[in-house]
Amino acid sequence: MAGTLYLVPTPIGNLGDISRRMADTLSLADFVAAEDTRVSVKLLNHLGLKKPMVTYHRHNTDSGGRAVIDRLLAGESCALVTDAGTPAISDPGEELVAQCAALSIPVCPIPGPCALVSALAVSGQPTGRFTFEGFLAMNKKNRRVRLDSLRGEERTMIFYEAPHKLTATLQDLAEAFGPDRPVSLCRELTKLHEEVRRTTLGEAAAWYQENAPKGEFVLVVRGAEPVQAQEAALEDGLEMVDRLREEGLSLRDAVKRSARELGLARNQLYDLAVGK
Ligand code: SAM
Repeated sequence: MAGTLYLVPTPIGNLGDISRRMADTLSLADFVAAEDTRVSVKLLNHLGLKKPMVTYHRHNTDSGGRAVIDRLLAGESCALVTDAGTPAISDPGEELVAQCAALSIPVCPIPGPCALVSALAVSGQPTGRFTFEGFLAMNKKNRRVRLDSLRGEERTMIFYEAPHKLTATLQDLAEAFGPDRPVSLCRELTKLHEEVRRTTLGEAAAWYQENAPKGEFVLVVRGAEPVQAQEAALEDGLEMVDRLREEGLSLRDAVKRSARELGLARNQLYDLAVGK
């Protein structure tokens, strides 16, 4: 009978987040497959464990994966760990889990630290419906296509980003979704300098242009206003424009005031008012 692949999350900063079950699983597994054995051995040392280790990372998913699968099929159990957080979430593991599923090898998830879940929970953005986007592509065209496809996304969107790419990514997000779109920047979660900055994409891009970002970030971006709500708001805007015009304001001033008071896009309201 095949052994089990255990997906063991590790702390994203705070060693206090190691759970009893994580430690027990690492202790009981026949071997540990690690993204970087130099990182994971520190965790094992902290737990007073000595385990046989193999590497499984994004550059050896074929050979590393085969070696793990062969041992699982021979009946050994394996604890898969990455440098931090939950395996298979923007980290190695996804393919290995798929291979195990295809071969009916049992896979057991151990719940634990995951940056996107902590960020979403603390963001103050709607949590009922969300989409996890991970890291945006670095290739400009692929990135633009992806962001274009997200323009009308109404669910809260979660992005991972490295500090040295944060400013450029905030600028791209502001361009795609508008500078006024709310964003929560969740930085260094569970660490000494943990910080949640709730602002807009435009303000965040301008801030980090002047102040180099430090540490690890998750960006939680508010989804687009539902189309129906937007239409309803524009209809309210139109009514207000008509009323103000009856009171003697010019079309331009009526649009300006209505857009400002109702938080609408001035151009959009103007086009609607002139019947474009
Ligand atoms: N598998 C991991 C998880 O479950 O969260 C994610 C690994 S991914 C390679 C690393 C990214 O996660 C970072 O670039 C950052 O966006 C986010 N991240 C990891 N730790 C974080 C922390 N303590 N605070 C904020 N973001 C973090």
